[in-house]
Amino acid sequence: MKITEAKFVKSSPRLEECPNTNLPEYVFLGRSNVGKSSLINMLVERNKLSKTSSIPGKTQLINHFIINKKLFFVDLPGYGWAKTSKSNRESWDNMTKKYLLNSDKLVLIFILIDIRIKPQEIDIKYLNFIGKNNLPVNIIFTKADKIKKSQIDKRINEFTSSLSKYWSSIPNYFISSSLNKTGRNEILKYIFEINENLNK
Ligand code: GDP
Repeated sequence: MKITEAKFVKSSPRLEECPNTNLPEYVFLGRSNVGKSSLINMLVERNKLSKTSSIPGKTQLINHFIINKKLFFVDLPGYGWAKTSKSNRESWDNMTKKYLLNSDKLVLIFILIDIRIKPQEIDIKYLNFIGKNNLPVNIIFTKADKIKKSQIDKRINEFTSSLSKYWSSIPNYFISSSLNKTGRNEILKYIFEINENLNK
């Protein structure tokens, strides 16, 4: 699968201000610092399309990128940043949830999970919110280069068993590393296949 064109379209502070087109949206969501910007840049093979390490605490925006003139990648604000006020956190949370519930072009949510760390309550909470609302979701485990290969399955099992307390079947998942492009072909192939079949 080839990305022939990836362009930044707009940063929107609210759902109402998001670009108004009929293209399908593939959404990336995760805790701040999970590697979301790096993953988007890795997928589109551009170093700075999505800004990495943006300063948390600043206004959080919904970023739209148009891919091959066919679909959008949507970068949602990272959640769970500890060093901000409760009201800031709540407003990001509300904006994200409102977007997820009301975007009528949303095709698939990718929730990003840092493969190195133990299952986090906030990730499970977001996944359960998505599940309860019957929204389509896949998981992307990030930063796989940072742990030994032998640890990868162990970490994934740990996460999926925490999830299985709430989920009867575990969502499809990918393993990625933005550093060495692990998962790139699989994720893009999956997205493009879904997208090609949307209008059939
Ligand atoms: P975001 O806040 O979720 O957008 O996270 P960023 O993409 O800004 O990444 C946070 C930090 O993790 C940065 O220092 C990145 O260089 C680093 N990082 C992100 N993805 C990877 C990865 O796959 N491997 C490694 N080794 N570092 C990563």
